[in-house]
Parts: sequence; structure tokens; C-alpha cells
Amino acid sequence: MNRELVITIDGPAGAGKSTVSKLLAKRLGYIYVDTGAMYRAVAVLARDSEHANPLDESALEDICLGLDLQFINKNSVLYLLANGQDVTTEIRRPEISSLASAVSAQTVVRERLSEIQRRMGADGGVVLEGRDMGTVVFPDADVKFFLDANPEIRSKRRYLELEVKGEKTTPQEVYQQMVERDRNDSSRELAPLKSATDAIVVDSSHAQIEEVVQLMLGCIERKRKARSELLSTREA
Ligand code: C5P
Repeated sequence: MNRELVITIDGPAGAGKSTVSKLLAKRLGYIYVDTGAMYRAVAVLARDSEHANPLDESALEDICLGLDLQFINKNSVLYLLANGQDVTTEIRRPEISSLASAVSAQTVVRERLSEIQRRMGADGGVVLEGRDMGTVVFPDADVKFFLDANPEIRSKRRYLELEVKGEKTTPQEVYQQMVERDRNDSSRELAPLKSATDAIVVDSSHAQIEEVVQLMLGCIERKRKARSELLSTREA
């Protein structure tokens, strides 16, 4: 069966994954899944729960048990509803970045979110971005990318994003938080941030967004062609 592809884009914070993934999904007519937003949503729910410690295992178990996450595309803006509550703005607060990284190291959270992510990508025609999409959640993805960039450039990009939103922070603070988050994400036991052995590694440090998108579209096109040739030889 010639189903549409599963494309994964992993990499550290600020490498440009969201921008590139959204553009790719739009041009291919695919669904875009921001798995970082899902971890951030769990962090918001944990912060707002009655438990004194948001990282308490039983608090996270309660949250994950009946968790319902839905992405809604309205007038080209992607909203995220967590148990019906719109968390789109809240998940982008700087303090939620660190809390998301902390909750993401917990087994119960990873298992539940991986299950939801697999369901979202089950029919193909999807671009999923995150940290473990190509290594753990979709090890058989059709095309895997690992998007990287040097830490100074990544933190500068993130600082400018936060500045536009009016968040009070400094470039140094953003850099330090990003380096620490990368360290936590790469060193955790469960699904650490790393490139899949069969991922195409792309460095966006000195590339324009459009260059990166074109490079990826080229790889995807080659994969599609190879697959349809294989299917037609099988059918012949
Ligand atoms: O991508 P974003 O920066 O929004 O992700 C927030 C956090 O969620 C990351 O720092 C990471 O700890 C976690 N995450 C993860 N696995 C994913 C996506 C995000 O552990 N697939």
C-alpha cells in the first residue's frame, strides 16, 4: 500500500525544528505534531495540580491517566487543548521549559505521551518533531532528520523569540537555561536526546530556513521515488 510518509525531526532546543517542521508539513499537506508542546502541557497541568511538588510521581500518574491532548488548527494558528483547556500561550512561558524537561524524564509521562504520539502518526502523512521521534517513538519512520545548530546561535534565536513576546529575560539567562536543558535532555536514562543512527543530520547554524526546508524536501522526494519504484517492481 502506498501510504503517506512518517517524517521525524529531532534535535536540541532552538535548532529551528518548529519553523522547519511547520513549513514541511504545509508544503507536503501533512499533519504537524509538536511533541515538545505535549510535554509542556503536562508541565502546565503538573504546576497547576493540587500536589505541592509538581514532580511527585503520583501527581504525574494522575495527570497521565485520563490525559486528553488535542491540536486544533484555526486560521493557520495551532492551538493545544489539554483536557479541553487552551494551554497554547501558557506552555511557552520560560519557566515551563525547565519544568517540561523535568517531567519528561519520568517513565509514566514518556509512556503516555509516546502512546498518544504513535496514535497521531499511525496513518502516515505526518511530520513529528521532538527529541526521541526517530529513536524511540517511530524507529521505523520513513525519513528521519536530526536538526542541530551551535548553542550560541540557538540561544540567540530563542532570546529574540522571547523578546518579541515581551518576556523579561536576558541573553545570558536564556543561554544558561538552554545549555542546562540540553544537558538534562541528553543525559537522562529514558529516550535521551540523540540522533538516530539512520537520521540525516542537518546543521542550521549558518543556513537560511528556506535552504534547510529545500534540502529536506529533496531527501523526502528521493525517498518517495525510491518507495514507489520498489512498489511498482513488486506489483509487476
Ligand atoms: O521542543 P520543546 O523545547 O518545546 O520541548 C520541551 C521539552 O520537552 C524538552 O526540553 C524535552 O525535555 C521534552 N521533550 C522530550 N521529548 C520530546 C519532545 C520534547 O523529552 N519528544
